[in-house]
Amino acid sequence: MKKIQNPLFVTKSFLPPLEEFEPYLQDIWASKWLTNNGKFHQEFEAALCQYLGVKHICLFSNGTLALLTALQALEISGEVITTPFSFVATTHALWWNNIKPVFVDIEPETFCLDPMKIEAAISPKTTAILPVHVYGTPCDVKRIKAIADLHKLKVIYDACHAFGVKRGGQTVLNFGDLSVMSFHATKVFNTFEGGAIVCHDKSMKKRIDFLKNFGFANETTVVGPGINAKMNEFQAALGVLQLKYVEDIIKKRKILACAYRENLRTIDGIRLLQVPENTESNYGYFPIVVDQGIFGRSRDYVYEKLKKHNIISRRYFYPLISQFPPYKELKSARKGLLPVAEKVSQEILCLPLYPDLSIDEVDCVCECIRLIKGR
Ligand SMILES: *Cc1c(COP(=O)(O)O)cnc(C)c1O
Repeated sequence: MKKIQNPLFVTKSFLPPLEEFEPYLQDIWASKWLTNNGKFHQEFEAALCQYLGVKHICLFSNGTLALLTALQALEISGEVITTPFSFVATTHALWWNNIKPVFVDIEPETFCLDPMKIEAAISPKTTAILPVHVYGTPCDVKRIKAIADLHKLKVIYDACHAFGVKRGGQTVLNFGDLSVMSFHATKVFNTFEGGAIVCHDKSMKKRIDFLKNFGFANETTVVGPGINAKMNEFQAALGVLQLKYVEDIIKKRKILACAYRENLRTIDGIRLLQVPENTESNYGYFPIVVDQGIFGRSRDYVYEKLKKHNIISRRYFYPLISQFPPYKELKSARKGLLPVAEKVSQEILCLPLYPDLSIDEVDCVCECIRLIKGR
């Protein structure tokens, strides 16, 4: 196997050529309008709506503040049904809103919240469902909507992985009452840090925009206890520029993901995530499931060995959110109650995938996995 000189990380942020960003900076310096719904903020919102195929978008300084604010906007309280298989911010947003998370298991194929298990977790205190389109794989949005409608629950999708993902030619961002996005450095589309809420009507957009700006409706009117979660002009300008590249980024990711798939397909004990029929993925992640019984080695063994070869994979999502304090004390977090999520989190490994990665490097990673298996 070829020696890997520089470590291959699980991701590497995409940036446009610096000289292309300079005119944007000159513009900001000339106007001295640095934040509070400036020119680039407005331009980025409009461009995003157009690109993503959504009606209204509210920009945020990051995805976590967008999640917190989404829960405030819909006045969610009591208990919320959510998944343990996500980035920890999904549940933290509930906790910070004084809401009790109720964990429900995931589907073995998609790793998304299992709709068949939601109803058993509904109590008189349940007010909403917070599912996650994990790795950009769309949740079973139809079933979730049917359950939410029947029990009069709100649905907020954590769509932080789902930038540009479509099902049946339609964006997945229009499902649920609100969808929350992240433009963090590690995501398919980044503004260094950043986030957004997708909503369906003007009055909700107005409410969210008030909330993210301390609750100010105008100079002297505060409509409620808001927060400061605004996106600044630097981030918004970068967003406008990044948007010109995102199509190309996703195309490159797709080519690399196909190369991985083609190569790893023949290794017994390595399961690959299927892109569901009718779905346009953004190829944000390349997760593999290591079945120790067949592969002969554990996921952690593979992870450590890859690291020795300078390949820095990540165990997204291990441990489960339900295994972190303070959540592990919750009844719904008890060992054995989330069997699919518990198993997947022991077997999952995300391999390096980013637009600058080369096919040679993909082949190197695959070769290394064969080596670890010992053929
Ligand atoms: C990245 C991420 C978040 C948090 O977004 P930030 O912009 O980093 O605050 C929340 N949920 C999921 C699923 C994420 O991947």
